[in-house]
Amino acid sequence: GGSIGALAEVWNELQRAAGGMGRVNELLAQSVNIQPPARPLPLPSPVRGELELRALHFHYPHRSQSPVLDGINLHILPGQTVALVGPSGAGKSSLLSLLMRFYDPQQGQVCLDGRDVRQFDPQQLRQVMALVPQHPVLFAGSAMDNIRYGRLDASDEEVIAAARAAEADSFLSTLPDGYATELGERGTRLSGGQQQRVAIARALLRDAPVLLLDEATSALDAQSEHAVQQALTRLMAGRTTVVIAHRLATVKAADRIVVIDKGRIVAEGRHEELLAAGGLYAELARLQFID
Ligand code: ADP
Ligand code: MG
Repeated sequence: GGSIGALAEVWNELQRAAGGMGRVNELLAQSVNIQPPARPLPLPSPVRGELELRALHFHYPHRSQSPVLDGINLHILPGQTVALVGPSGAGKSSLLSLLMRFYDPQQGQVCLDGRDVRQFDPQQLRQVMALVPQHPVLFAGSAMDNIRYGRLDASDEEVIAAARAAEADSFLSTLPDGYATELGERGTRLSGGQQQRVAIARALLRDAPVLLLDEATSALDAQSEHAVQQALTRLMAGRTTVVIAHRLATVKAADRIVVIDKGRIVAEGRHEELLAAGGLYAELARLQFID
């Protein structure tokens, strides 16, 4: 039956997306906000990972018309790392949502490899992007299954290889039942830094050309911090990365820093030049980028 099939499809999409995003009811809202094309274009093969936001204007549907993104122009070349910084409510997370096509802009375009993302099948589009959220969600299931969420057909060996690269193998393999240990609310609790590394392992497994990263703000112990940083460096290598940055190390490592305030890009450049220019960036740096 068509409706059951459609429901199952939505559910599968939610399951996949929930592995990378936040709350499921938010995702449900996000999936119904877009209209998939009747005849989607196949994705380029391979996807190069060039991103472009052109004269983008966006406000959330059913909300006041006050703009969340107000004339954004941003061109990111394949393999580049762009750090987004800005005060809370500036529109940084919304920008990532538009790249994932959870919403469409009211004006302007989001392009992947030179094509408007509205031309692609949204599920296929999201398969070539890996989203590492600020607060990763672990579900009830084994550690193995939690990582396999990144790519459902991955073998156990591939899952373990991803966990190693994500600096997660060292703690997962010493759990009472190793990778078979139940995680989630009623299972073994992992620390914040460990949860982040599970999310990084998922993203590594997905091996997507585009990486969208909402860096965690929570303080980690020094050892966890170092391990997460190493895992992220591996994850970002060779991919186009847009990172909402909260750490000086991330900001400094980016090819380009984009400062966003009230839905607009107010400055762009490297750390030293932006610091020297003073203004909002210097203020954010003084506050250590924690929004
Ligand atoms: P940032 O990530 O820079 O803190 P956000 O993109 O989360 O900023 O938020 C930008 C603006 O959009 C804020 O005013 C916020 O309240 C609003 N907003 C964010 N998410 C939603 C949503 N799902 N529905 C309606 N408004 C939202
Ligand atoms: Mg945010």
